[in-house]
Amino acid sequence: MGEFDLIRRYFQRLPGHGVEVGVGDDCAVLVPTPGSRWLVSSDMLVEGRHFLSTVDPARLGHKALAVNLSDLAACGATPRGFTLALALPRVDEAWLAGFARGLWSLADASGCPLIGGDTTQGPLNICITVFGEAPSGQALLRSGARAGDEVWVSGRLGDARLALEVFRGTVALDGADFESVRVAMESPTPRVALGQALRGVATAAVDLSDGLLGDLGHILAASGVGARLDVDALPRSAVLAAQPAALQQQCLLAGGDDYELVFTAPPGALVPDVDVALTRIGRIEAEPGLRVVDALGAAVAHGLRGYDHFAS
Ligand code: ADP
Ligand code: MG
Repeated sequence: MGEFDLIRRYFQRLPGHGVEVGVGDDCAVLVPTPGSRWLVSSDMLVEGRHFLSTVDPARLGHKALAVNLSDLAACGATPRGFTLALALPRVDEAWLAGFARGLWSLADASGCPLIGGDTTQGPLNICITVFGEAPSGQALLRSGARAGDEVWVSGRLGDARLALEVFRGTVALDGADFESVRVAMESPTPRVALGQALRGVATAAVDLSDGLLGDLGHILAASGVGARLDVDALPRSAVLAAQPAALQQQCLLAGGDDYELVFTAPPGALVPDVDVALTRIGRIEAEPGLRVVDALGAAVAHGLRGYDHFAS
């Protein structure tokens, strides 16, 4: 199978709503919604760094798009389309069929069609760029948090990191417990509906890819504020809650790969009714820095920080 057969077979479909030209020409042609702004984001997944070679290809296809949709969600954008740049070591049709199935299933569920890309031979590498829209002036940014705002998080934190520790051999989990945290790691749910519902409600937002401390830190830095964070309030699964306290803290505060949204909103703001639990986890303060406390307000020493690919 050649490059162009491969593209036609797995990655080409008829253009849909709002796409004048999709896969097959030199560029895709998108129809902008009047009064909207484009929001664009890219995320790359590298074998061995972001995923294990043994991962189910359907889950990998899902995750490659999910981590990109999560960035659109953080900004309150409505997904409009995505491109896929793919390097493949060889043509493995079983792998491609699984990958495309996971990818298309999330694309269809999110109303986000594949509109183009690039395919080349090389070490397995997946780079997606998503295009979304938001009404002019309504995109959620990291820079809008103000002293007195409450800090909220969606869903539950830390399961993906717990699964990683199982793969690393530092934690033992079996059966359904392992599968539940493994799904969190391999098949995260981007909070696209929540992000759109937060337009006009949240003052700032970010999605959690590199761990709560680091990602909330981005809001604090961009907004020129600090925060108090209640570690006991952080939402966690029963599986994580059964682990030793220090491991729970590590997974919750510095875990990474959660793809939940953290956002700030004034007290009493009408936090939307969406299909995911929302938990209040802290408060924005004028004093810079992030103060981690327990339920009694006592300082918690943790020595943790967010993930950084090039940190020494
Ligand atoms: P060009 O050489 O003009 O850049 P290509 O030959 O690389 O175009 O690609 C042909 C068409 O297939 C283009 O419309 C491109 O967007 C699309 N395409 C290539 N790879 C992919 C892919 N992995 N997923 C979706 N579309 C793809
Ligand atoms: Mg061309």
